[in-house]
Amino acid sequence: MRQVKEYSIEVRNIEVSFGDFNVLKGVSLEIEKGQFYGILGPNGSGKTTLLKSMAKALRPQSGAIFVDGEDIGRMRAREFSKKVACLYQSTAITYDYPVMDVVLMGRYPYIKRFQTESVKDREIAKKAMIASNVWHLKDRRINEISGGERQRVFIARALVQETDIVLLDEPISHLDIQHQIEILELAGKMAKEGKSIVAVLHDLNFASMYCDHLIMLKDGAIVAQGEPQKVLTEEIVKKVYGVKPFIIDGMNGNRPYVLPLKKQGA
Ligand code: ADP
Ligand code: MG
Repeated sequence: MRQVKEYSIEVRNIEVSFGDFNVLKGVSLEIEKGQFYGILGPNGSGKTTLLKSMAKALRPQSGAIFVDGEDIGRMRAREFSKKVACLYQSTAITYDYPVMDVVLMGRYPYIKRFQTESVKDREIAKKAMIASNVWHLKDRRINEISGGERQRVFIARALVQETDIVLLDEPISHLDIQHQIEILELAGKMAKEGKSIVAVLHDLNFASMYCDHLIMLKDGAIVAQGEPQKVLTEEIVKKVYGVKPFIIDGMNGNRPYVLPLKKQGA
């Protein structure tokens, strides 16, 4: 076993390509326990590919990923699911189950073949649904609730997996600011309780407000990582997004605030 911090992810120089197209070009990073990480970068920069690699949904062509010091390529699916939960970027839902059943799907690593969920599984689901504020929706159908409510249901499903690591791909895109804040507060609370949270975010300012660390991707490589003050600088934002921003320091708990500027005089 390799010696790494407890309950952490270590990404070692991974490369991912689709055909001739090199999407991740040697990405390395470390995720510490109890910290909230934001992955930022323009469309197509490889954020989802990086998250999917960490979720063991994609296998990098080279490099390796370790969870608790163990190479995830060698871990069994069920064992891995007890360590890492992932909420994927929203896609159309093709099923129409009651909310309670959707949340209980998260218990699959713990339910033996030919068995159904136990009273304990239901209790865990209830606790998670209360935490993510969807308990009142338990009997509604997943397609009959709003986008924000659905996203909270998926977070409850990730919570019942009882993993130390939770990966979230754009958990707040398409939500109004009230629901964006609600989800980020919940993610922050999960980190304070000891989980490692890694979220792909588009909103630089919400990332700045809530994340302990930011990882900035551009064209499949990390261009900056560290605390928000270090990553959200005029120079880095300009380099990555091609937009000159005005950075206001010391907002929302001493975090930088990125104000994009019009291209042609204001
Ligand atoms: P992001 O999440 O940052 O927007 P992605 O990781 O989804 O970016 O994609 C990075 C690049 O890889 C994009 O150019 C995308 O078109 C390409 N890509 C992603 N998945 C596939 C795939 N399965 N096959 C081919 N190209 C892909
Ligand atoms: Mg994506």
